[in-house]
Amino acid sequence: MHLNPYGEDAVNLAAELANCRPKTAGELARRCRAAGLQVDGPFGPADLDRARSLLDAWERVVDAPDERTRAALLNRMLADSADHPRLTDHAGDGWHLHYRDDRRSPGALLGSLIAVGTALHLVGRGMHRLGRCAVADCSTIFADTTRTGRRRYCSHRCANRDAVRRHRARRNAAGDRAGSRT
Ligand SMILES: [Zn+2]
Ligand SMILES: [Zn+2]
Repeated sequence: MHLNPYGEDAVNLAAELANCRPKTAGELARRCRAAGLQVDGPFGPADLDRARSLLDAWERVVDAPDERTRAALLNRMLADSADHPRLTDHAGDGWHLHYRDDRRSPGALLGSLIAVGTALHLVGRGMHRLGRCAVADCSTIFADTTRTGRRRYCSHRCANRDAVRRHRARRNAAGDRAGSRT
């Protein structure tokens, strides 16, 4: 996975892993590779532990009450996970930046990818573009990469459920008003 300028793939991978936590190191490896993360070494139990704690930290960034807190929490993640940026042409398909030493463990690479990708996403698209679904009983996290930046739901399904709920609430309120006149 190459970090694109807005960190979209990385922030989406973070959301995907946070929403459905990997249970084994093998599962973590499979899902990272499926998302396009290139890592040479095998994922071990230490990498799974590291992924768990970095997803916990990342969820605190998601749930931050305001922009300054969000920035402070993410800065802490960057300090813990990222090294100085460096130019690399490791795959021979063009020069790009890596925000870590390539010899680090897969868990460490994932940490720097998620921290830097989330930072690029927030500064590029807007500090508010990370959140949880607006449906009360759904806590699914999403990164808002829409054009307008006003996404509120994790899925079409949740958006439809909420539209139905609001429609019923309006109809009931109208019914109550009609009832009170008689
Ligand atoms: Zn690369
Ligand atoms: Zn939802």
